[in-house]
Amino acid sequence: MIPPMPPACQRESLRAFVLSLLPAIGVMLALLTGHFGIAGFVFSTTFVIIGIGSVVPRCAMFGPMITRLPAGASGVCLTFDDGPDPSTTPALLDLLEAHEAKAVFFLIGDRAARHPDLVCEIARRGHVIGNHSQTHPSATFWMLRPWQLWREVAGCQETLRGILGQAPLWFRPPVGHHNLFLAAILREIGLTMMIWNCRGFDGVNRDVSAILRSIERGLRPGAIILLHEARPASVEVLRRTLDLIRVRGLDVVPPPVKSVLAPAE
Ligand SMILES: [Zn+2]
Repeated sequence: MIPPMPPACQRESLRAFVLSLLPAIGVMLALLTGHFGIAGFVFSTTFVIIGIGSVVPRCAMFGPMITRLPAGASGVCLTFDDGPDPSTTPALLDLLEAHEAKAVFFLIGDRAARHPDLVCEIARRGHVIGNHSQTHPSATFWMLRPWQLWREVAGCQETLRGILGQAPLWFRPPVGHHNLFLAAILREIGLTMMIWNCRGFDGVNRDVSAILRSIERGLRPGAIILLHEARPASVEVLRRTLDLIRVRGLDVVPPPVKSVLAPAE
């Protein structure tokens, strides 16, 4: 069962909500007093700022996140979104084991509830499990209200805690979107947002060569690599990514210990 949002978090969400209304009030006042140019400027500026802060994954305007491993890291971190999935998770685990590599699996709560055995197997093989929301509302996540965000984040947390006996420490938002209500909720739950700085767009692209070219461009020490489960090419993409990592002479390393993280990167 999802716990109710604590009062302190409710207050902080309310403050952020009131803050979000200020530009709208400013636009209305400017319109009422005939300052149409100012109204247009405030509206368009607010629209652009909120848009960038919400849908650009690596923009930390609305709260802290990590987008790469701490400075000085010599390896790369492999992360998988959208599992668990019976058609790909077992093969990915075998491939990782063959390369003695550990990864971070950001799981969707609803899928985890349908496949608890896979969740346990991921943990048993020594990988880190992260929270990727309960239902993965990819099109609307950036505009969810605080209580809706709470259901998504706390719901997934409770689902995974119920299966594993312990809750994740890392959160990855669906499609990398966020908004000004999310940071307070993650802080309350004890989650840190992990984005990425290396990706192949394998969630939407089916051309494995194009995916690998994109990953290759971002592959350097300290990279956090975003990959996806539950796609037809998931296993092939991992196989070739592991080859690329080996050719570059890089190690696959686990995510950083939270105590060494800077507040925001
Ligand atoms: Zn996802």
